[in-house]
Amino acid sequence: MKSTSTPQVPPGSPASPFPSSAPLSPPETKPDLAPIATVLDPHAALQESGLPPAAVMMNLTTGALVLSRCLFVAAELGLSDLLRDGPRPVSALAAAVDASEDALYRVLRALASAGIFREEPGHRFALTPLAETLCTDVPGSLRSWVRYGSSEWQWSNWAPILGTIRNGKTVHENVHKKSFFAWYAEHPAYSASFDAAMSAGAKMLHPIVVSAYDFSKLRSLVDIGGGTGALLAAILEANPHLHGTLLDQPSVIARARAEGTLAAPGLAERAELVAGDFFTSVPAGHDAYLLKWILHDWTDEECLRILRACRAAAAPGSMLLIVEMLVPPGNGPALAKMMDVCMLALTGGRERTAEEFTALLRAAGFELRRVIPTPSPYSMIEACAV
Ligand code: SAH
Repeated sequence: MKSTSTPQVPPGSPASPFPSSAPLSPPETKPDLAPIATVLDPHAALQESGLPPAAVMMNLTTGALVLSRCLFVAAELGLSDLLRDGPRPVSALAAAVDASEDALYRVLRALASAGIFREEPGHRFALTPLAETLCTDVPGSLRSWVRYGSSEWQWSNWAPILGTIRNGKTVHENVHKKSFFAWYAEHPAYSASFDAAMSAGAKMLHPIVVSAYDFSKLRSLVDIGGGTGALLAAILEANPHLHGTLLDQPSVIARARAEGTLAAPGLAERAELVAGDFFTSVPAGHDAYLLKWILHDWTDEECLRILRACRAAAAPGSMLLIVEMLVPPGNGPALAKMMDVCMLALTGGRERTAEEFTALLRAAGFELRRVIPTPSPYSMIEACAV
């Protein structure tokens, strides 16, 4: 392994870059995102590479496709785990994963050209900070995120994208005739892969959310659609005075009880688990209501139903805390703009601008107080029940 020393800047902490790749790197090493940015960001490519636009376009079309699938190969075969103890020749890697040495070499060479792995003399490959994020069981691991996000399944979801652009309906509605979440509920293998990907992404944000907001002034908080309670547990651990309620669908609350995330001593007596439907009602009378990664899954009309249920439960002066990406104005690159197209194609939701959140909140009886930026693509929106 390159380094097992504890990084000075904890992965995912507010001081670290996002996504953090600190776990195996010396603390002073910043991940070099420039190569991948050049492939994925047309602005950087155009402005910094000096290539003519047609060359950039070819790179973007072919490069993005190939990179996504090569990342999947690396994540699926667990190549980063095999390099944790140091660089290895591609022949050893190919033998370990039962692959063609020539094919694997060409994939690794392509990945190395984007800063993912580094080729050394003698057809040997080493980890880079980006490749380290594909290790299993390291803080900030994105292996399950890539295994889901670049999988055959995910690619098949994007194949019928033109249908979505024509009629505005999701791929799931057009192809499977049912919503994203309804389809997943019937396909446990895919939903397990989806859950693993989401919790890998979510874990990185926990310390960021915990330190982005001053929870000390609150006595009680409800995490609405809080999954199995990992974020609520992190917030309660950092705020020993706070009481928390987890609200989610009955099947998820059953899983939360089985996993026992909120059952640890010191938490159990301050935590309540509630099975329910956030479109209908949420627990009343609490100081704050948290909606993380909820509203972007839904249309404006559906969001209004969720927000009105919150408003019916919240006394005037109660806080609503929303954690989402905000779509920035202008032509600059933003993950929110890419994720917004994912929402268009998959869930039928959308990423929103600050103005769009302001209008939605106002229509539901909340006043947006402030937007708290975090050292990640996500912001926390604080709104007050009026
Ligand atoms: N807040 C968590 C989970 C976000 S995923 C996180 O940030 O990681 C969306 C969550 O909404 C899932 O846990 C899902 O079970 C929950 N959910 C979906 N529909 C719901 C409903 N009608 N009522 C309550 N929870 C719901």
